Amino acid sequence: MAELNKNQLKAVEATEGKVRVVAGAGSGKTRVLAHRFAFLVNELGISPGNILCLTFTNKAAQEMKRRIARMVDRGSINDFVCTIHSFCVKFLRREIYRIGYPKTFLVIDEEDCRQLARQAMQEFGIDRKKTTAERFLKQVAGFKGMAPDDYILRHIMPGSSSDCPDAIVRYIRLQLKQYALDYDDLLYFTLFILNHFPDAREYWTDRLNYIMVDEVQDCSGDDWKLLNILKERHGNLFVVGDPDQAIYEWRGACPRIFVDFKANTDVILDENYRSTPDILNVANPIIANNANRVKKELYTRALNERQAVYHHAKSERDEADMIADRIEKGIKEGAAANSFAVLYRTSFASRLIEQALLRRQIPYTVWGGVRFFERREIKDVISYLRLIASDADDMAFMRIVNVPSRKFGSKSLESLTALAETNGTPLFTTLREAAGEDGSGVKPALRAFITLIEEARRRAPIMKISELTDWMLKESGLESLYRNDEEEERLENLSELINSMKEFEATRFEEGEADLTSYLQEISLYVNSDLEDVKEKVKLMTIHQSKGLEFDTVFVAGLTEGIFPSHRTIRERRKDGEEEERRLMYVAVTRAMRMLYLSESEGYLNDTGALKYPSRFISEVPDGILAVEGNPDPSLFEGTRSMVNMVNGELGDMAEEVMTAGTAVSHRVFGQGIVESYDPASKSYRVRFGENVRNLIARVLTKL
Ligand code: ATP
Ligand code: MG
Repeated sequence: MAELNKNQLKAVEATEGKVRVVAGAGSGKTRVLAHRFAFLVNELGISPGNILCLTFTNKAAQEMKRRIARMVDRGSINDFVCTIHSFCVKFLRREIYRIGYPKTFLVIDEEDCRQLARQAMQEFGIDRKKTTAERFLKQVAGFKGMAPDDYILRHIMPGSSSDCPDAIVRYIRLQLKQYALDYDDLLYFTLFILNHFPDAREYWTDRLNYIMVDEVQDCSGDDWKLLNILKERHGNLFVVGDPDQAIYEWRGACPRIFVDFKANTDVILDENYRSTPDILNVANPIIANNANRVKKELYTRALNERQAVYHHAKSERDEADMIADRIEKGIKEGAAANSFAVLYRTSFASRLIEQALLRRQIPYTVWGGVRFFERREIKDVISYLRLIASDADDMAFMRIVNVPSRKFGSKSLESLTALAETNGTPLFTTLREAAGEDGSGVKPALRAFITLIEEARRRAPIMKISELTDWMLKESGLESLYRNDEEEERLENLSELINSMKEFEATRFEEGEADLTSYLQEISLYVNSDLEDVKEKVKLMTIHQSKGLEFDTVFVAGLTEGIFPSHRTIRERRKDGEEEERRLMYVAVTRAMRMLYLSESEGYLNDTGALKYPSRFISEVPDGILAVEGNPDPSLFEGTRSMVNMVNGELGDMAEEVMTAGTAVSHRVFGQGIVESYDPASKSYRVRFGENVRNLIARVLTKL
């Protein structure tokens, strides 16, 4: 408790009822959460199994567990410090049988979803040039989101009628056949069970005495529905967040719910412990430009060390070199490589910086590049394990039946699929039946494949997952496949995979939860960055991924107007888009503990070919705060201003006055109409023109 200030202590000790902590970046929100957990366990005697502590990423959850374990004896056995999705998996393992799913249900990631989408699209002759798998999946998500209950009911009662397009029905059937849930489904299924099975609801609401949530500004409406149900019995909900760091509205987050939350106890933290005053002097004025916010200012008692830098470079390459030079110098002077982070708006921006670091032989790691578990070799191994765990997993079967080659091409797969369809059996079962008792019905390579999977199934219950995998890699010929290809990186990835399995086994041993299916369910929620530990490497990541983290020295690179803030976002979401971009900038700047560099470079924009100008966010920092390097010509900032004016002009006056319902308007094509309502999110009006109603933006309407 000595490690907390007065307000932090208040937040920790307010254990009962609804408590809300609203606080700026680096003010100790996450620290409060960890201490509160310890307080509940150590002082109030609550069992860790009765506390649900939700954070935003797996990485944050691991960090939280580590902090808790330092303070709490029994902290290490806690499984309910996790992300919302991971909680849903744990919930469903216990409850999903109620809707006819096995405990071994499959969790599928984006790549799996695309594979299924392609299959459904192909069957219905949907041209992949016209609709991409991504677009198809958006439709699926839209359909599910509109009526999740219907969609889940259809799982129980396949065949019930609906106005859902056939290809989407097929896609959902394919999911059903393999008991596959995507990330959205995890939440929908959990809500569905809580809403329809009172005894499940009773069990969980009774069990979870205390619920705490970090980064709550990025929760969606459905996340909130879950929280509200879970807390209904004991009423203890502790939510922590910073509306100025809401950066996921584009993906459905509703920060408004947090802002409007009626708490019994409200705590505000405004002392920042992370950054020097110089860094806050950059962050505070930038965020102050957002009109739609609750005003708050951070202060710190830390002393200034070095002035934050704005660096203007002549080219992208120079910019990357500047960053790499500074890091090289820092390391020479004794700094650890992992005390540096380079942040950028879009992931492709990492390439030049990577090259600059490579040239200097500085070790680095890119977070969230290709997701670790989406890499080919990892997917292959996992597919083997999935097929071992479940007969029904056709997706896994299709992926690996011919890896390594068993002379089982797409023609053979097609006829097997047709047979499976007729028999109503999974692919693997169908193959086994075709092979017959003695296996003579299929080629020797396939016979060996069947034997391998069956032998693995015998071994699975008695072997550790890491041992089973090791054995399987050798027996299946996968290992020699990669070895012969001399794909060093793939082999390294495989040993990293085995490492992660050992880690999993080490943490799960006590709970008897280290079986194959629980492993598979858990890892499908993981991304690349979750595996990387605190190795001595410079970290490169998008700003979205840097949420909640802190680094000694932070470079925010690529600050070019149009890229950051992204004009595409502003065009799509107007003022809301601009403000979300600004919050993103605020998140980036406040990651820095001791030193901050903002940088951008001259050149041309990739998409339009227009000249590049410095981001408006740089101009939002008052003169004298940033040490300016690289002699930017003042005309550059005029360029920025005219670009800003241009975008604003395109969108009409963004701060327009809202027309009330009943206002008469006219439109060039539709003629005279009456405003019915206004939707602030899309900044558009519902206007009635005689019989027809249309949603239109203000720019095309003239008030009469
Ligand atoms: P963010 O908004 O970025 O998630 P946060 O509010 O969660 O930030 P923390 O990460 O909990 O902030 O804390 C920021 C830093 O300040 C950490 O290094 C933490 O250890 C330190 N800190 C927090 N509170 C105190 C305190 N009372 N005394 C000393 N250090 C503190
Ligand atoms: Mg935090």
